[in-house]
Amino acid sequence: MIPNNYHELNYSKIATYLFCPFLYKLKYIEGRREGLVAVTSLGVSIHKTLEEYHTNSNDPESLLIYYNRCFLGAGYANAAEQMEYYLKGKRIIEDYAKREKYRQSEILGCEKEFQFEHNGWKFRGKIDRFEKLPDGTYHVIDYKTDARISDNFDVTKSLQLALYTVGTKRALGKTQGKASIYFVALNKIFSIPFDEVNEDFVLDKYIEIGEKLEGTDFPPCTKSCIQCLFRMRCPHSIHTERYIKFNRL
Ligand code: SF4
Repeated sequence: MIPNNYHELNYSKIATYLFCPFLYKLKYIEGRREGLVAVTSLGVSIHKTLEEYHTNSNDPESLLIYYNRCFLGAGYANAAEQMEYYLKGKRIIEDYAKREKYRQSEILGCEKEFQFEHNGWKFRGKIDRFEKLPDGTYHVIDYKTDARISDNFDVTKSLQLALYTVGTKRALGKTQGKASIYFVALNKIFSIPFDEVNEDFVLDKYIEIGEKLEGTDFPPCTKSCIQCLFRMRCPHSIHTERYIKFNRL
């Protein structure tokens, strides 16, 4: 079966394939959905809150109002878990509001889309926050809501920021600036200047993986099972949690 977005690449596809090729097959070829759990649900709520806030207000006093409007109740095991995560998110938003009082950048867009073509492939992306800095350069931000940063995290190796940098230059026409991953729950930001991204290397890497996406071989990567939301349903999972056959869902 050939997916209908054949020859189109984005970071989510690439990241999913690198995490586990079989997971890519489940999600992008068979169209199965992961569903929400507490952590991912709160992540959606925070992203939506910041998008609505920066698009409609930019008054820090209003942030909690947007959070209450955007908080998603789905994905929680019960009301107690939902309240626990609501309060976690509220703390994140309150801290973000304090930092907003000192922000000097000008927000140019949220969920800003770009697309461009290269060597017959279409590249697409969506930038969480796109802004202009006081020195006139541009800043591309991807929010992460993780509660901890992985020991091997290295912003200079981020294929996501690399693609966003190339997209900002080629599709949005902004060549000077930096791209960042902003861990909003931890108030930590990691940046890479646009100049340090090797465009040819990044695009070649995406296309190299893209060619595998259009092949027929999607082997399971069982070292990822422990972090995989499909581990309860996947026939290849080595995780000890119960495996449920697809046809019982
Ligand atoms: S459970 Fe393991 S093998 Fe199955 S899709 Fe997830 S990571 Fe891949």
